Amino acid sequence: MARLLIVEDDEGIRVPLARALEREGYVVDGVASGEEALRLAAGDGDEHNLIIIDVGLPGVDGLEVCRRIRAQRPAVPILFLTAQDGELDIVDGLDAGADDYVTKPFRVSELLARVRAHLRRNASPDLSEAGDIRIDRAARRAWRGGDELELAPKEFDLLALLVAEAGRVVTRERIMAEVWDENWFGSTKTLDMHVSWLRRKLGEDATDPHHLMTVRGVGLRFEP
Ligand code: CA
Repeated sequence: MARLLIVEDDEGIRVPLARALEREGYVVDGVASGEEALRLAAGDGDEHNLIIIDVGLPGVDGLEVCRRIRAQRPAVPILFLTAQDGELDIVDGLDAGADDYVTKPFRVSELLARVRAHLRRNASPDLSEAGDIRIDRAARRAWRGGDELELAPKEFDLLALLVAEAGRVVTRERIMAEVWDENWFGSTKTLDMHVSWLRRKLGEDATDPHHLMTVRGVGLRFEP
């Protein structure tokens, strides 16, 4: 599981945020100062997979923390928490090497979505998993729990796309373009057929699916 570092001196933000992230299954280290963050980030322990930094920290400020961590860890996703009217914070934050920012006050669900997106982007592009489904794109193999799924090529492509975007709606247009043909026009009956085959292979009840969800009028969503 991914290990996250939160650097935020405001306990009223740090503590509930850490709790929300832990509920998502992440291991979370929360610290209140830049000094502690730098000490942890430089340690020999498990490397953090993503770092959330408040810009306004006492002592070593968030920008400097970001710059120093970035110098050592060029690839780690860094997310900034900025003040509401902190336009300068945002620009400076991106200059200092942050990948993204969230403006306070933020909705926890929004921050969680950003965290997921950055972790996914940073993970191996060939391997993805959601719930008990695991996908190896390079080997074109898929598993449900310990059992390998026997999928036709389009079924595999469809499942791989939905799992990579797990929890989010993928539009029918995007599915048709990415799984079938980028110049595809016309009926999505083919997609409907593949969805029902795929549901059967995933052991879903077609009348009451819990994983491969139809979002009426929009597309599909894989729910882990
Ligand atoms: Ca602060």
